[in-house]
Amino acid sequence: MAAHLLELQGVTHQYGSGSRRFTAIEDINLTMGEGEFVALLGPSGCGKSTLLRIITGLIRPTHGQMLYHGAPLTGVNPRATMVFQTFALFPWLTVQQNVETALKARGIPPEQRAAQAVDLLDMVGLDGFETAFPRELSGGMRQKVGFARALAVEPELLCLDEAFSALDVLSADSLRGELLELWIDNRIPTKAILMVTHNIEEAILMADRVIVMDKQPGRVIADQPVSLERPRARKSPQFLNVLDQVYATLAGQTQPEHIELGVAPGEAGRTRALPGVSPSELAGFLEFLDEMPNDRIDVYRLEQELNLGTGQVLLLTEAAELLSFATIASGDIALTPLGETFAAAGILARKEIFATRIRRMPMFKWLLAMLSAAERGQLDRDVVRLALELEFSPDEASQQVDRAIQWGRYAELLAYDDNTETIYQESAVPVAG
Ligand code: ADP
Ligand code: MG
Repeated sequence: MAAHLLELQGVTHQYGSGSRRFTAIEDINLTMGEGEFVALLGPSGCGKSTLLRIITGLIRPTHGQMLYHGAPLTGVNPRATMVFQTFALFPWLTVQQNVETALKARGIPPEQRAAQAVDLLDMVGLDGFETAFPRELSGGMRQKVGFARALAVEPELLCLDEAFSALDVLSADSLRGELLELWIDNRIPTKAILMVTHNIEEAILMADRVIVMDKQPGRVIADQPVSLERPRARKSPQFLNVLDQVYATLAGQTQPEHIELGVAPGEAGRTRALPGVSPSELAGFLEFLDEMPNDRIDVYRLEQELNLGTGQVLLLTEAAELLSFATIASGDIALTPLGETFAAAGILARKEIFATRIRRMPMFKWLLAMLSAAERGQLDRDVVRLALELEFSPDEASQQVDRAIQWGRYAELLAYDDNTETIYQESAVPVAG
């Protein structure tokens, strides 16, 4: 049987020495074969970059082995290339010359370099920009030059370390699309791609397999295939289903969700009230937990640390647990990998994570279904409030509508007009003017 492209056997890596010794990753066992596109997902600090450094041979693990084509790696892996968040391009060279330097390093004779560089720039969608200088390009275009340079060395293994995370939404989408096309149509000789990201959607959009890591110490907690047909549609039920599974893994789901989440208003059973905290209070709380040196924190200690009343702390912990950002056991609260991911994410990624979580709550499913069935995708606040009075006291029902509006707005699932007291489906917002 052919050897795997790469194999990590019991890989542990520690930084520092003596009392400052720190275990970044512990006992990682992992294989990757040719033809695989693997995404590596996990909160910051769980050792993703460390793992990539070991795989590309930039560092040697303190324990265990890294095998490439069945043989231990000694020194930098010449068949692997790494793409980082941002590229250091030579500012005094043109776009084409920047790519040519990589071809030169690979020993391509001078007379062939120009044509090859032009081809590579064409591949990443930069034709016409050959003579531009890096300073004339947008961030997205500069990253494309970086990709062209990485592809110039024809790597057998392409490693991406959050390569799309510094880009705006449109540039990231376009660059992802270019790379996927090159990969799927076999237009590059690359045999495997390993992509580090903390964008859950990006992982499922691109990879055939998602590996999930957690931290303290960095370790693999799940390894699951993504068997969705390509091209993948983010809004398709199949896509959302896989997204859900990966979220559940990150959330370390303990109870069956229908128990935790309750039922929709009007159905038999209990409708779970939304805890009285705003998304930004919750975000602040998760950031605070993420910065605490300990993994598990006594809930009672939080009152002093945060200088909040017992009631408020309980609401925050309830919200964090409801959304699977944290687990609570014997008086301790601990962030799930999903909670850590949220805490470390930027505003857009946070909104996405939040939206994915609340979309599955019966209260929101019910509200979103009512909105999409309603004329012009809009409802009076009062209609929703009255419906909620089937489940809650009048005061509580009123608070629950406001809470749902606040959470839904943050998640960009719905919009609200304070003047007319109308709730809109996000897609049905009337154009101002
Ligand atoms: P990730 O890429 O998942 O955010 P890293 O691999 O960068 O994680 O880091 C994993 C852990 O190792 C972190 O706690 C980080 O602070 C620590 N670490 C990373 N590089 C070094 C280093 N050169 N020296 C000491 N500690 C490091
Ligand atoms: Mg990193």
